[in-house]
Amino acid sequence: MKIKAAVLREPNKPYTIEELELDPPQEREVLVRYKHTGYCRSDYHLLKGEIPIMMPLVAGHEAAGIVEAIGPGVTKVKPGDHVGVTWMIPCGKCEQCYRGKGNICSGNFGNFLQGMLLDGTSRMKDANGEMVRHGNFVSGFSTANVIPEDGVIPMPKDFPLDQAALMGCCVPTGWGTVCNSAKIQPGDSVAIWGMGGVGLNVLRAAALRHANPIFAIDLESSKRDLAMEFGATHFIDNSKEDPVRVIQLATGGVEMEDGTIMGGGVDCAFEAIGDSGAQTQAYWSTNIGGKLALPGITPHDEATSLNLMLFTLHQKSLLGNLYGSISTHIDIPRITRMAQTHDLKLDKLISERFKLEDINDVADAMGRREIKGRWMCDFD
Ligand SMILES: [Zn+2]
Ligand SMILES: [Zn+2]
Repeated sequence: MKIKAAVLREPNKPYTIEELELDPPQEREVLVRYKHTGYCRSDYHLLKGEIPIMMPLVAGHEAAGIVEAIGPGVTKVKPGDHVGVTWMIPCGKCEQCYRGKGNICSGNFGNFLQGMLLDGTSRMKDANGEMVRHGNFVSGFSTANVIPEDGVIPMPKDFPLDQAALMGCCVPTGWGTVCNSAKIQPGDSVAIWGMGGVGLNVLRAAALRHANPIFAIDLESSKRDLAMEFGATHFIDNSKEDPVRVIQLATGGVEMEDGTIMGGGVDCAFEAIGDSGAQTQAYWSTNIGGKLALPGITPHDEATSLNLMLFTLHQKSLLGNLYGSISTHIDIPRITRMAQTHDLKLDKLISERFKLEDINDVADAMGRREIKGRWMCDFD
């Protein structure tokens, strides 16, 4: 069948909108007609060549849609079912999977990096008959695609499909970082850098776990209202103020005669952008015994300078975590059920909608830091 897709052909070049040929689903694969796909900062990193990946590639990993057809042996879903996706498919057989860490599955990671489905091949070809790769098993920037059965997450039919798309990345990444990695407890003080899709979900999860105070930090004051709506107790525009100083003084720090501040700091700082400058600020904002959690992906050629002595003397921790350290097939349905009964503010998270043809404008807007929350690609 013919599909329309945004194709990445070379790093740092715009997406090209192309008509591709999509082969039918094979053994244990599902054809999904996409309805919505969110534009994540990781997509921007791929576009800019900041995450090395093989091309040509159809990216987009935060998608939801309706099952159109199933291949032989599929038992999990049937045509007409609503589904979200997981961009990491645990193989169930590698050491990480046996340890319950399917989010860092090494068994399927080679296919993930090469843009291949689980049998090591692609279902997409371009107009010249050349193979096109699958982005994160999902390829959500296309009107329809073939996903391994274990990559689809069944969604309740009364759950909005645009919110189901958010369950593919930013919601579980944010919630998982707070609950699984940082293990935030009621009363913990936290600070979050970057009020994008992941940062706002970190913020919401921290608020619903009764963290206090909650500092939200962004370079754009325009993100203040959304941050306060999601539960921040303070908003700091770090183009105008030094967030480390504000946080230390607000958390018991004492200013000395020479202007330095002794004490203060948060129990956990989250850096949700993947920016080395923000990571340095976040590190210095933590208290003795504090944690620095990194749910955002830093460009592969960027390094951060952190004071290692204080990791020991102040017993600080650096928490790297992929996909919120979730168990994809347990946590995504669980967070979806929570979204049906608790106010995760997912409707507020989607702040703008776009058509696939306009995806380069969305990438430009992300580069200019204009995106508040999530911009969602709507398919007809
Ligand atoms: Zn993402
Ligand atoms: Zn595995």
